[in-house]
Amino acid sequence: MNKLIQASLTATWLFALPALAESASTVAPKPNILFIMADDHAWQAVSAYGESRHLIQTPNIDRLANEGMKFNHFYVNNALCGPSRAAILTGTYSHINGFYNNTTCKFDGSQTTYPKLLQKAGYQTAMIGKWHLETDPTGFDHWEILPGQGRYYNPPMIRNGKQVKHDGYVTDIITDLSLDWLKQRDTNKPFMLLCWQKAPHREWEPALHDLDFDHDRIYLQPDSLFDDYSGRGLAERDQNTTIEKMMRMNEDCKFVAPKSLTPEQKKIWDEYYVPRNEAFLKKNLTGHALTEWKYQRYLHDYLGCIKSVDDNIGRILKYLDDTGLATNTIVIYSSDQGFFLGEHGWFDKRWIFQESARAPLLIRWPATIKAGSVNSNLVGNIDFAETFLQAAGQPIPRRMQGSSFLPLLQGSTPTDWRTAFYYHYYEYPAFHRVRPQYGVITDRYTLVHFYQPAAADKEPAELAAIPNDYWELFDREKDPGEMRSVFGDPAYAEVQTNLMQEVFRQRTQLKEPAKDDPIAFGSPDFWPVSDPQAPK
Ligand code: CA
Repeated sequence: MNKLIQASLTATWLFALPALAESASTVAPKPNILFIMADDHAWQAVSAYGESRHLIQTPNIDRLANEGMKFNHFYVNNALCGPSRAAILTGTYSHINGFYNNTTCKFDGSQTTYPKLLQKAGYQTAMIGKWHLETDPTGFDHWEILPGQGRYYNPPMIRNGKQVKHDGYVTDIITDLSLDWLKQRDTNKPFMLLCWQKAPHREWEPALHDLDFDHDRIYLQPDSLFDDYSGRGLAERDQNTTIEKMMRMNEDCKFVAPKSLTPEQKKIWDEYYVPRNEAFLKKNLTGHALTEWKYQRYLHDYLGCIKSVDDNIGRILKYLDDTGLATNTIVIYSSDQGFFLGEHGWFDKRWIFQESARAPLLIRWPATIKAGSVNSNLVGNIDFAETFLQAAGQPIPRRMQGSSFLPLLQGSTPTDWRTAFYYHYYEYPAFHRVRPQYGVITDRYTLVHFYQPAAADKEPAELAAIPNDYWELFDREKDPGEMRSVFGDPAYAEVQTNLMQEVFRQRTQLKEPAKDDPIAFGSPDFWPVSDPQAPK
């Protein structure tokens, strides 16, 4: 054998066998997948989306849009933590994966998920952060999760089944653990890492060093902060989602410090909140003025959490840059749903409306995505599994109900791409008392059917005469805030007929049962213990 070839082969065998295997085939190397997800991050609080209040600058999240693709119409199947996560993992709707609500459901980890399939395909897989599916993760070589909702400060975690303790702020810790795992991985294999943050979930507790991040800025209010729900039906009027009634002064508004703070940490907390709380108490605010004050406190705390999420994404992107991994790593930033930031007077999620069912989605993958792309196709959380599998060259199981959006990342839209996204929320009457609803969202319209599950609740006497089974239609081009239903308006007769047909077509195609399983609505007894609105 020629000495030069022999030397070259020896070097190859010794140091670069996987590289030889890859270069010998025409198949591109499998991309790494780094899926960063927040919990309850509203798209209104991502500066790349340019919301009119200009609530916060998120330069690191925006980098993903500038260097990749921003999705303007990304929706979730069921705007609630657990159900959205179950849909993301399985590529199926709630009635298929069985995780309908956060009060009684446990995720069946024996189901087919993309982490399991990627693990079988040779990926190193890890899940770090907030899981919230009630059973242990499956399909991961390594996992470290917060128990339940987890804590913001000094959070205990569960690492591969064992309790561990951490000191510090949860967003920093989840990022540190993610970077540690990336650093110790086998660099000859592709990886798939889920870095799923707890922030900015209620009770919105910022990092201590970020408490004064906005220097007591006054945030613009949304036009609908004092919505009277005229032009809409019972569901919007009879709910427990308002800042006015349901945002608690204690933990939510920071009149009670989190118990998990150390004495030193509590001192920093008190230095920020106590003088501001005392100034508030002196004013004796009531009515709208009190709601306006709560809105400002809420925005400060919520956006303070986002500040840390964005800073920590910067750390992860720097690691990818420094190690040369950026080019063939798909970095996804998204949230398990959106969140109301005062629109309709609300916080929380659950509704089919834009602030709730729509979430941010930004993806960078320099090997494939043209920098600065903007996509306006209807994309859903049920599409992630199919997309990751196709990007990794793996077959997509027939059970999955979404579509791979790999072609969209490559810059072309399939001619048969969906024109209406199906949505279905169940959990009722627990907690925020948002009524069950299903419908479709298109690029212009939202059609929703509110219905009353017979077994779940009895209407209070004062509401019994108001229809609790009805449809609404919103023309978001003329009414972007979804303030006035045009259902039944003759001018929309054709749109209404077509969209109702589309709802029923999709219900059949997705194998929705004609009658919901009664377990879907969760436990009517579930209520937060300390909630002032809780039934006595
Ligand atoms: Ca959530």
